[in-house]
Amino acid sequence: MDPNDTRIRASVRSLTPYVPGEQPKIPDLVKLNTNENAYPPTPAIRAVLDSLRVDDLRLYPDPECDALRARIAAATGFGCAPANVFVANGSDEALRLAIDAFCEPDGSVGYVDPSYSLYPVLADIRGVARRPVDLWPDLAWNIPAGYSASVFFLTNPNAPTGHLFPKDDIRRFCESFPGIVVIDEAYADFAGSTCADLALALPNVLVCRTLSKAHSLAGLRLGWLIGQTPLMEALYAIKDSYNVDRIAQAVACAALDDPAWMRANVARIVATRERLAATLRSRGWTVFDSATNFLWASPPPPQRAGDVFRTLRERAVVVRYWSGPRLCDYLRITIGTDEQVDRLLAALP
Ligand code: PMP
Repeated sequence: MDPNDTRIRASVRSLTPYVPGEQPKIPDLVKLNTNENAYPPTPAIRAVLDSLRVDDLRLYPDPECDALRARIAAATGFGCAPANVFVANGSDEALRLAIDAFCEPDGSVGYVDPSYSLYPVLADIRGVARRPVDLWPDLAWNIPAGYSASVFFLTNPNAPTGHLFPKDDIRRFCESFPGIVVIDEAYADFAGSTCADLALALPNVLVCRTLSKAHSLAGLRLGWLIGQTPLMEALYAIKDSYNVDRIAQAVACAALDDPAWMRANVARIVATRERLAATLRSRGWTVFDSATNFLWASPPPPQRAGDVFRTLRERAVVVRYWSGPRLCDYLRITIGTDEQVDRLLAALP
């Protein structure tokens, strides 16, 4: 992009865009770089797709996702009603709309560092201030007294570190925080813990969920926010009319109707995660305890994470590596099937 092209908004011209994990076209690839699920989604989806009438695609989808919101509310529990649910085209859309709805042009977007690297980009797109909270070096929950932002994103469990913040700390923080807190629970099914009850009880808290990870549906693009109805109404007021398509609504209902399938896959991934963590530690790696479907790990010196990343890639195993300061010592490794993890271990230098 030409930084002098004044047809384009200044905040867009100066943007460093979010870089999604690559989707390489390498044959027989072991793809452990974007935290997709290693296992397929529920086979019940096949019947739903077969029953969809092509002719119905003439018609717009339900703009308010009523059937799906009822499913999500029931799956959430804690007395969640459909009116406490906002459905989006992937949780990334929900995060973006949270800024549009709750951050004034002179407001600010907060998040912990390190966490999901999309948040600062969303702030930059809107041209609002970033207010990161530095968690280095010990990654403990130490948000300074008096800290504030218009919208604060808290990834829990966190990414890329994989660790879970204590719920009592989160509750205390939310109770005194002056802005909106969005607790991004993309990986919460792997942790078996949620703050959805906080989102329903506190007027300034939202919980963001996705079908991309535990439900194996990253290709579908379906996420949602849970919160009190005034916040939901604000989101519905600003969204695209038909932000979730017919096929996604139907498939998402089928996925939520089969929680046992999701839980069985989560159990397999957690078992493989613990095996991989133990094996890497026995080889001298530093591995953070993870409550997610990935590990954040650093190879033993003199090996360097960047070199290990490149060697693995040459051997058709792709993990995630960030070259920036601090993150450059680590690899984020998505948990694959047992066979994929064995191939990763065999390919390590
Ligand atoms: N939040 C976090 C913390 C993530 O890691 C991701 C996946 N990159 C997302 C949100 C986005 O998920 P979705 O596929 O629902 O847009």
